[in-house]
Amino acid sequence: QAKDAGRGTYRVFDGRMAAELAERSLLQGRLQLALRHGGLQLHYQPQLCARSGRVLGVEALARWQDAQLGMVSPARFIPVAERCGLILPLGDWVLNEACRQLRSWLDQGLALRVAVNVSAHQLRLPRFASHLAELLQQWRIPPALLELEITESVAMGDGLQAKALLEEVARLGVQLALDDFGMGHSSLGQLRDLPVHRIKMDRSFVQGACTHARDAVLTRAVIGLTKTLGMRVVGEGVETDAQRRFLQAEGCDELQGWLFAPAVAAAHIPQLLQTLVGAAP
Ligand code: C2E
Ligand code: MG
Ligand code: MG
Ligand code: MG
Repeated sequence: QAKDAGRGTYRVFDGRMAAELAERSLLQGRLQLALRHGGLQLHYQPQLCARSGRVLGVEALARWQDAQLGMVSPARFIPVAERCGLILPLGDWVLNEACRQLRSWLDQGLALRVAVNVSAHQLRLPRFASHLAELLQQWRIPPALLELEITESVAMGDGLQAKALLEEVARLGVQLALDDFGMGHSSLGQLRDLPVHRIKMDRSFVQGACTHARDAVLTRAVIGLTKTLGMRVVGEGVETDAQRRFLQAEGCDELQGWLFAPAVAAAHIPQLLQTLVGAAP
């Protein structure tokens, strides 16, 4: 009996693994085509000053509309790209496209900070910082207008090496943000020594803060911690007015979330900035 159950379990497990493999290689093939033929786009989501409501910057988020698969979420294709190596050409494209777009906004008189998500594999490329320097020069971007978002686990990952890489980037004048903060295993000692400008509090804290006492306490603690370290803190995933008010009352510096705007195509940004004037206070 037990043996039967065991065998049954195995079969289900194998089936799922096979399905995952098939999905991964399908996504990989389609993504390769998308990269080659321009099937990717960047959308931009505003980040607002929690006090004045002014839009301080936007986060660039990859969007992929595939002819066969339809809209594929980055939560699905980024992990695949990281496993198969496509994250390097993809990350390259994202960085260049964000700089190209920022140049175009600057030419229209729009000085926005643009935040770009960067994977650990990119950061570890030997020439990453010099490549970044070339991009800034090519597109004539004031370095402080570019921000790289790196997840907490990457920044803390292999201690000294990660720190050295981040310092190289920070020396260019590019800003650094720790993404999804609170989900990893940060050591406060390490955090203190990283050249990080902004901490992005994971949306699970923000969204729990108004309903779970424990999340409220954690959110408060993260805001207090960033102040102590002289960093700025961004609340991610703000969906309700109650969440906005909580973060403002606790002294969170910047806000990002669907309450204000989702990520939109670059062409909609100038209009969106008009409608967002004074949205936060
Ligand atoms: P992330 O960097 O933490 O980005 C925030 C995610 O939260 C985005 O999902 C955004 O659309 C979503 N979001 C924003 N406001 C709200 C809200 O109010 N409520 C909820 N529920 N969600 C909100 P998205 O665009 O699906 O991206 C998912 C993740 O994929 C990103 O998380 C990032 O880790 C990764 N990603 C996206 N674009 C890139 C990229 O160009 N390069 C790399 N390496 N990763 C990327
Ligand atoms: Mg991000
Ligand atoms: Mg995030
Ligand atoms: Mg995330």
